[in-house]
Amino acid sequence: MQTAEIHRRWLDFFEKKGHTVVPSASLVSDDPSLMFTVAGMVPFVPYLSGLVPAPFDRATSVQKCIRTNDIEEVGKTPRHGTFFQMCGNFSFGDYFKEGAIRFAWELLTTSEADGGLGFAPEDLWVTVYEEDEEAIALWREHSTLPDERIQRLGKDTNYWSTGQPGPAGPCSEIFYDLGPEYGVDGGPATDDDRYVEIWNLVFMQYEVADVRSKTDFTILGELPRKNIDTGMGLERVAFIKQGVQNMYEIDQVRPVLDRAAEIAGKTYGEDHADDVRLRVIADHVRSGLMLIADGVTPSNEGRGYILRRLLRRVILSMRLLGVEGPCFAELFPVSRDAMQAAYPAVAEDFAFIERAAYAEEKTFLRTLASGIQILDSAVDAAKSANAAVPGDTAFLLHDTHGFPIELTLEIAEEAGVPVDAEVFTSLMQEQRDRAKADAKAKKGQRADLSIYKELRGLGETLFTGYGELVHEGRVL
Ligand code: ATP
Ligand code: MG
Ligand code: MG
Ligand code: MG
Repeated sequence: MQTAEIHRRWLDFFEKKGHTVVPSASLVSDDPSLMFTVAGMVPFVPYLSGLVPAPFDRATSVQKCIRTNDIEEVGKTPRHGTFFQMCGNFSFGDYFKEGAIRFAWELLTTSEADGGLGFAPEDLWVTVYEEDEEAIALWREHSTLPDERIQRLGKDTNYWSTGQPGPAGPCSEIFYDLGPEYGVDGGPATDDDRYVEIWNLVFMQYEVADVRSKTDFTILGELPRKNIDTGMGLERVAFIKQGVQNMYEIDQVRPVLDRAAEIAGKTYGEDHADDVRLRVIADHVRSGLMLIADGVTPSNEGRGYILRRLLRRVILSMRLLGVEGPCFAELFPVSRDAMQAAYPAVAEDFAFIERAAYAEEKTFLRTLASGIQILDSAVDAAKSANAAVPGDTAFLLHDTHGFPIELTLEIAEEAGVPVDAEVFTSLMQEQRDRAKADAKAKKGQRADLSIYKELRGLGETLFTGYGELVHEGRVL
């Protein structure tokens, strides 16, 4: 089943159930304190929070999302994209737990011939908040899940709150079992990759106060109008329905991966490290395409900086695959062709997208060339002194020349010279601490829009650099 078909079935199903179909909002959220749209609920926050009366009782959407906090997972897990689409159904004081559970079960298990997604019930598991007896009873009543496939989990995974006084409530998540060859038995409670989370149902049920942390607060009582917010990952369902191994192999993403492999002369599936790079390239090219289409351009701060890091990581990954020249002109049109059926704007605005992306590539390739000169002389000096490339040189290259550490390590390794990773890592940490302090100071100057920020417990989407550096399997 093509991704576009799952998209269409989702909207059709919920429209038939009385939901107003709302087009995807931009990746750039209206709220200046939220960097990107990180979930389907973001455009509905004013209605969910009760600040603005909802113009409908029920709504559905397929929302474009960017999650930079998943950047380190991309290509390594089968299920994390920096860009992805979240299918959502929302109730604003209308149906509640029973409706949400019944709709989810019906759509997932109705056969493909009858317009559903055609999942076999025996491949599905659900988790519920351990004290949510109501949800457990409803799953028992409205699904064919045996009790052992309804698992109870704690507040850390199955509770939604903003971290502020206001609405909160339990969640129930639906997982797909990839099968015994993918991991251990025991269901999603094992946290094993064998079970892929496909859909999260959030029951906004309580009003809370005395909030000490996201999981520690006092429940004042039931909300007068309870809401439903759900999110199903379109790419996750697509990869399962398309019988491929991960979300980078679906129809909307795979063509870019193939083109990158072709340019690099690699065969996908032969080498794990190369496969991860190819998946990162395919993911980030698509994110770049979609971000530029929504008006973001590369820059040194905010959203533009995220875009810049994504685009540069594509170039870097291509380089690690052995391709040193420009390649965006080969990759972006392929991503456009894969995405334009769902998002015609990427074709209409392609001239603008191309210009922004290719200019960034040109600049970064120049940066790389000059960084390599600095590194070459540092490597020579280290070699003759029988020493390591100093950590502060690696940091300077990274910080001032935008020269990625992975490349420094690779080049030094080729010359048989180590890099002082300890000093580098501590300089990076200092820089991250500074960025965090800056962000905090800035936050104090803004209007309090905290409810938008802590949506779904995601925290801020501020990007403070790659959290962890991994090179050839070694964590720095
Ligand atoms: P995970 O635990 O796998 O990281 P999550 O709990 O962070 O997922 P939610 O915040 O519950 O995800 O988002 C709702 C749904 O959106 C998920 O069930 C999943 O199907 C999808 N989703 C979330 N993050 C991503 C991502 N980075 N790439 C693709 N799909 C995603
Ligand atoms: Mg996540
Ligand atoms: Mg999860
Ligand atoms: Mg979840």
